[in-house]
This record gives sequence, C-alpha cells and structure tokens, in this order.
Amino acid sequence: MLKRKISFINFTVIVCGLIIAAGTICLLLMQKNLIKEDTKYLAYTELAQEVKRAKKNIGFDENENPYIKSDFYDPEEKDTYNENVYVFLQSRDGSFLDGRMPDDSRTGLDIGLQSLTKVTFQGERYYVATRRGKRKNGTEDDSFYLVCAMMSEQAVKENYRGLWHQSYLVIGVVGAFFILFALLLRYLIAVPMRQLNESIKKSGENLDFTDSLEYKGCFKELQMLTDANNHLYQRVQQELERQEEFNANVSHELRTPIAVMHAQCQVSREVAEKKQDKEAIKSIEVFERQTNRMKNLVDQLLQMTAIDRKGTTFSMEDIDVRDVIESACDDIAYIDTKQITFEYSFQPTIIHANMNLIYIVINNLLSNAVKYSNEGTKIYVSCGEKDGKSYIRIQDEGCGIEKENISKIFESFYREEKDRNAEGFGLGLSQAMKIAELYGGGIYVESTKNKGSIFTFFIPKP
Ligand code: ADP
Repeated sequence: MLKRKISFINFTVIVCGLIIAAGTICLLLMQKNLIKEDTKYLAYTELAQEVKRAKKNIGFDENENPYIKSDFYDPEEKDTYNENVYVFLQSRDGSFLDGRMPDDSRTGLDIGLQSLTKVTFQGERYYVATRRGKRKNGTEDDSFYLVCAMMSEQAVKENYRGLWHQSYLVIGVVGAFFILFALLLRYLIAVPMRQLNESIKKSGENLDFTDSLEYKGCFKELQMLTDANNHLYQRVQQELERQEEFNANVSHELRTPIAVMHAQCQVSREVAEKKQDKEAIKSIEVFERQTNRMKNLVDQLLQMTAIDRKGTTFSMEDIDVRDVIESACDDIAYIDTKQITFEYSFQPTIIHANMNLIYIVINNLLSNAVKYSNEGTKIYVSCGEKDGKSYIRIQDEGCGIEKENISKIFESFYREEKDRNAEGFGLGLSQAMKIAELYGGGIYVESTKNKGSIFTFFIPKP
C-alpha cells in the first residue's frame, strides 16, 4: 500500500521544479522573440546610419567612378567608426566598386535596392541595407550605383550577450535557491517525520510507550501530530500498566486457592485410596490434573508479568548451555510417552543470563517439539556460537506449522486450530520470545507442514 504513495516532499519538489522549469522556458522564449525583433531594429538603425555617413564621404575619380574617401575608415574616429559594419559600393548589376567587405573579398552582392535584408555570405548570415548612390552633381540615379552596408547577425547579437548572461545567471540563482529549498524541506519535514515514524514503529514493536516523542522543529502541524501521538502513548501505556497490574493481581490472588486445592487433592486422594474408592480416585485425578494446569498457567502469567515489568532485575550468571539442555531433555524424557529419541550436536556455548529464564526457554521449545511430534520420531538439539551470537537449535519431525500461521505463534494465547486439544495455553512461545528479547535476541522459525519445524533461539554474545 505504502509503495503506491508518493512522498509529500518529493511531490512538492517535483511540482515546484515543474513550475520553475515552465516559467523559465516561457521567459527564455519571450526573451528570444523580443531579441529577434530588437535585433532587426538595431541592425536597421546601425546600417542606415552607416550608409548615411558613407554617402557623405563619397568621392569621384577622373572617370567619374565613385569611391569611399579614406577618412571614412579612420579608426581614430571612435564615435563614428564601427568595425563590424562593412560599407562598400557596388554597381546595379552587383559588381563591386569600392569599400570594405568581410574577408576583404571584393565580390559584391547579388541584391538590388533593399531597406534591410538578410543574406548568406561565405557561410555566415548578414544583415544588408542598400541605398541609391548620388552622382557627382548630386542627383540620384537608379541605374548608377548602390551604397551598401552589411553587418553579421552574430555581431548584432553580441549586443545581447550581456542580457543572455544575466538570464543564465538568474536561472542559476533560481536553480540554486530551488535546490536549497528542496534540501531545507527535506531537513525540516522529511527528517523529523522519519524520526517520528521510526520511533512510533519501535514503540509499537516493543509495546513500550514510556518514552514520549519529541519534535524540535518549527512546524505547527508536526508539533500537533507529535502531541497527539504523545497523548495516545500516555493512554496506551496507562492501559498496558493497568492490564499488567490486573494480570499480576489475578495471578497472585489465584496462587493461594490453587495451592489449597492442590493440597486438598492430595488429602482426598489418600482418603480415597484408603477406602479403595476407585470412582473417587478417578475423579480426584481429573481434579488434580486440572489444578496442575491452572497452577502452570498462573505461574507462566506471573513470570511473564515479571519480565514485562520495567525495573525487574534478574540475577545473571555464566551458563553452560549444554548442561541446561541436557537437564531439560532428561526432565522431558522422564515424562515422555512417545518414545522420542534426542540427538545432540553441541559446541561449547557459554551465555551470560538468568538461569531460570534460560531454562524456561529451552523447556518451552523442547516440550513443544515433543508435544507436536509423532511417536518414535527424533528431535535434533544443537547449540553453538556464530556471527557474534549464541544459539540453541531444536529440530523436530512433527506436524509442522501452516505457513500463514508462523507469524502468529508468538502471540499470547495463540494456538493453531488443530492443536486446541493438546495440552497448553498458547503462552510458551510468547514467553520464550519475551525472554529472548530481554537479552537483545530473538527466535526464528522454519517449518514445513507435516514435515517438522526448526526453532532457533539466539542471543548476542556479551
Ligand atoms: P502451546 O502451549 O499451545 O504449545 P506455544 O506458545 O508454545 O503454546 O505455541 C503456540 C502454537 O505454536 C502451538 O499451539 C502450536 O500450534 C504451534 N507450535 C509451537 N511449537 C511447535 C512445533 N514444534 N511444531 C508444530 N507446531 C508448533
């Protein structure tokens, strides 16, 4: 579900990026069109002015052929001389008469009278303006010669180089601000959101709502979200504590009556045995079995409450895991009626933990292996150390677990449908997992229906 959602930050950054990109493209297009129009106007005024100036500097030789006086090209005349504009004279049929052309070519242009036109000359685009030339006596004659001025398109555009540079600079600055905005957004929203999310996830996984969330940023909405979560945390924590207290109290209160019932069972059994009352013995046995079940449940609940309760400290010692496994296997083999064989493969494994708790884990896993195994099968028990962890591995050839139920078996009171008739309350694995987590470890399961299961308990080495 989450995979289909887009991050709010990415969405904002993409939308802002698109808006800025569209704005930039529009501005550049507008600027290009404006410059295109402006270039024509600039070329026209520049060329017209040069032609006008040239016309004032035309002389005639003894054959009355026109030429441009050398004063016209005086580079000292900075105010008037423009080296980018080529001015020359050509006859009406396009042959060059006098003046300056790009690359000093003296070819002339095949054009007539033009107020402004564009030509390609030696592979480059030029603006050209031509005007009628005057005769010596001051008359203008269409058939005589033309005064031409040409200027490369590139030279005209040079005038806009500064403007283009400014535009690119503005785009660069806007781009830099945009990147800064994206980073700021990430830092101010994405990072605290991720931290909040991780801390909520962690609290949910550990069912620990004692630490309240903290938001130091400047956004009202995130502060509201944090406050609402903290309020929820408080309520959930109160409920959890109430529930823990209730479990502890109920379990505690049930202990005495169960102990009394247990003792009474023994007395009644002795009396019945004396009287050789078979019926009474049978019903006392049932009563005794159920009392034992109740005692086990209450003991398990009390142990779990103790593990759950914050601040409970358990004494720690170095434990040789092989000894604990062997003694648990002996205890189980003593009451086993299924002719199960245990096979061991032990490496020296020492862990630092509470002996009782480790015994509970091993006992729960082993008794499950026996409980859910068929008669005459084997159980393989191994222990060792790998990748900085100590592990205990219990493999059975029993009924296995349905794939979709594997994630549920560590929940309190969960039992697979088919196992409802077997002894137990669905607390053993949940208790074992709590103990593993208490030491920073865990339990993982591999199981195949009707083939068997492997439970691996691991805790990090100290
Ligand atoms: P229970 O008291 O029911 O054994 P657990 O918490 O120990 O409670 O186990 C929960 C459920 O997990 C069991 O009811 C059973 O369905 C399944 N289970 C546990 N261990 C095994 C195993 N070795 N083989 C098959 N199923 C198992």
